[in-house]
Amino acid sequence: MTVEELIVYGKKYTSSTKAKMLLANFLEVNPLELLTILDKVIAEDKVNLYKNSLKALSENRPIQYVIGHVNFYGLKFKVNEKVLIPRFETEELVESIKNYLEKKNITNPKILDLGCGSGVIGLTLKYFFKDSEVTLVDVSKEVLKVAEDNAKSLGLDVNFIKSDWFSNVKVEDYDVIVSNPPYIMTDEEIEEIVKNNEPSLALYGGIDGLDCYRSILKDINKYLKDDYLIAFEIGYLEGEKLKELIKNTIPNSKVTIKKDLSNKDRMLFVEKNID
Ligand code: GLN
Repeated sequence: MTVEELIVYGKKYTSSTKAKMLLANFLEVNPLELLTILDKVIAEDKVNLYKNSLKALSENRPIQYVIGHVNFYGLKFKVNEKVLIPRFETEELVESIKNYLEKKNITNPKILDLGCGSGVIGLTLKYFFKDSEVTLVDVSKEVLKVAEDNAKSLGLDVNFIKSDWFSNVKVEDYDVIVSNPPYIMTDEEIEEIVKNNEPSLALYGGIDGLDCYRSILKDINKYLKDDYLIAFEIGYLEGEKLKELIKNTIPNSKVTIKKDLSNKDRMLFVEKNID
């Protein structure tokens, strides 16, 4: 079949955009380039891969899992059903940490990424701060495997620890502790495609969504440098309550809540209070 025929075929199963994205992925070209090779005849094996993937899409599976990788902050990361699909909001979290380190002129930070998933946060920071020492932590062996594969394919040298939050992390002082923990509230309505496909271990954070922050905050004081940044991604309704929790657990801290591009509270930063 030709590229053009395959696009027409794909539209029976999914949107035109997704069909083109999928086909472009298997042909290893940019979706726009497809239009320049409409008459090209595609080999049987690739056609079959494409057709199977269209079926998966029509069964409401996320395209990122079907393709098996995503772009995060310009870098390519493998993903599978064991890990959360990285969101734009998390790119904003990374951007804020990057700005903080640049402003403070810290070129060799020690960074801890708790609940690393595919590794997008820790690995992207390592990519930008080559002299940093980055440690990625996750409770699941299968999840760590994905993060390890990503470190390898990006050529980044980082540490991995299988640990339930701090339980297996040696006491050391970090410049930055970052986490995008599960924070969806038990009764919160979320999109069907998320609920049915992404790992609930990475999504749900208990009745008020704050269980994982409580576990992290319980031990965090032992792991902070004198001058530190804690960066959390948060649920959009959780900022004020989490701020209270932090005020009660980390003495002399300054808490800042930041909105995402959709104008929802999405990040919370903690620094030493110097006022
Ligand atoms: N942002 C994700 C969502 O809305 C949730 C991520 C998380 O719980 N850390 O589906």
